[in-house]
Formats: sequence, C-alpha cells, structure tokens
Amino acid sequence: MSIATMSDVCTDRRQGSLLLPYGLHTLSDLESAKFEEHLLRCPACILEIDRVAPYLRTLHIQRMVLVQHFHSTGRSFKECVARLLAHHA
Ligand SMILES: [Zn+2]
Repeated sequence: MSIATMSDVCTDRRQGSLLLPYGLHTLSDLESAKFEEHLLRCPACILEIDRVAPYLRTLHIQRMVLVQHFHSTGRSFKECVARLLAHHA
C-alpha cells in the first residue's frame, strides 16, 4: 500500500462523518474541539477539508443570508420554515 493510498482513508469514520457539520459551524464547541483533534491525526480529513472549503464557504454564507432574511421578516424561524415547506409542496 502506498502512502498516497493510506492518506485517502479516514482514521476514524465516526469523527470523519462530522467534517461537513464542522465546516458549516453547526457542531457544539466540544464536538468541534474533538473534530479538530481528529484533524491533527487524519491526513484524509485534512485533504477533504481543503477540497470542500470553497463549497463550505458558499453554503455558510447562504445560510447566514437565509437566517438574516428570516429575522428581517419579524417571523419566527418555525413560521418561516413552515412557509417555505408550504411553498415547495
Ligand atoms: Zn478523518
């Protein structure tokens, strides 16, 4: 097995599955800290974070725009989600 192949495999799949929530800032402080500890030991996840970084930035910005829009309408988040779901039904 080459070094390149080894670095393609996450050393802890449970932690590796938190990569997207981590990138989207939806983990608790404790979960983030644990994932960052994992990142120090997992070349596969470091490569993956680099690969998806531009998309994560875009998703994060869109999420913030959506949240700001909800706040600007003066409606509760629950109300806005219900309206969105009704709109797409
Ligand atoms: Zn990993």
